[in-house]
Amino acid sequence: MADYLETYLTWYPNSKIEHYPQDFHTTLSSDARSQYYQALDLNQQQQLELHRKYELRSKFTTFDYLKDTQWQFDEYRVDYNYPKSEPGLRCKCGKKLKYQFVLISKNKQKKMYLGMQHFSDHLGVSQKVANEIKKGLSQVDFGIDEILWLHHQKYQFPNELWRRYCFAHYRNSLMKQPVKLNRQLLKRLASFRQVDLPIYTVDFQLVLREIALVNKQLRVEGNQLKQIYQREHFEAFAQDLAQDILTFDFNYDSKRIFSAQGKKYLKNHSFTREQLMSELIERLRQLDGFEDISQKRTIFHTQTLHLPLAMFDENCLAYALEKYLQYGFRLNFFISLPRSLRMAMQKALKAQKAIPTVQSYAQELQVHLNQIPKGYQKMVLESLLRDLAAKN
Ligand SMILES: [Zn+2]
Repeated sequence: MADYLETYLTWYPNSKIEHYPQDFHTTLSSDARSQYYQALDLNQQQQLELHRKYELRSKFTTFDYLKDTQWQFDEYRVDYNYPKSEPGLRCKCGKKLKYQFVLISKNKQKKMYLGMQHFSDHLGVSQKVANEIKKGLSQVDFGIDEILWLHHQKYQFPNELWRRYCFAHYRNSLMKQPVKLNRQLLKRLASFRQVDLPIYTVDFQLVLREIALVNKQLRVEGNQLKQIYQREHFEAFAQDLAQDILTFDFNYDSKRIFSAQGKKYLKNHSFTREQLMSELIERLRQLDGFEDISQKRTIFHTQTLHLPLAMFDENCLAYALEKYLQYGFRLNFFISLPRSLRMAMQKALKAQKAIPTVQSYAQELQVHLNQIPKGYQKMVLESLLRDLAAKN
């Protein structure tokens, strides 16, 4: 019963992880680079440019190349038709470029267009820094070359590896003590998968390592999940995982369930976790009364600004809302949640009748208020609020 691989194989008989190269150490000529790039479809090209931009941006952030200037990195453009294109890309001085950096001033008012050769001329950074930028750029380009080469060698996105990776995430989310998995890796793979690009050979190995990590943790926990559920639950989970990582800043391994305010209330015991869960459940359920999905979103969003929902982290609420709209309180809703939130909500749902909500208290108070003459009701409430404020 180790690792639930048997379960997986009954779901997907005879499935096998793709063959993939172990590493990459080819240098592409400029011609090969252009030719391989042109062979990609438009979506793949766009994805690769996004990826390049992301990688370059993180280099510029990590090494802070431009710290002594008024500029920061904005974009990097490649003209794959150079030198035939008109007008093509230009440096600040007018020189025609194949590769162009776009910098933006730190106050966001101006842009500057530069070729790599003139970085120190037009920006006044030292030759040493200019060389570092050049080095960073060629590292990023080398990474892009790898993808281009793999695509040229007819490698595609490794779908079976991906599914096993999702299965690792799935089991991880059902474990008592999930391991921390690499979110950047998941994000990169999910976006490459969207356009069927091959992945880095290093990433392929990293995924295998993450799967092994989950298997190891499962063994630590005695290979016992409470439930593995059915293939359809896993497939819904996998589909969500691929999209949610690109959409939300929250998922099943997130620990940020409560806002700073919420943590304070919990700490001084103004509210219990059960009460908060009960409130969340109540607010989600209330949405069932509305037909229109954008209306549901608006109503819920308005409530997130006030107590008691303001005690939750806003990313957590945004995520919980979308999962609720998708599933209601069906099984996959709970599977998609971080374990602590899932357990607390399931517990609150079971005990819900026993836990009063703000609304039920308000209803009780309403009964009393109705016995007070209409003109006095507001005054009574205001005087109560003043008393309350004085006590706190
Ligand atoms: Zn120039």
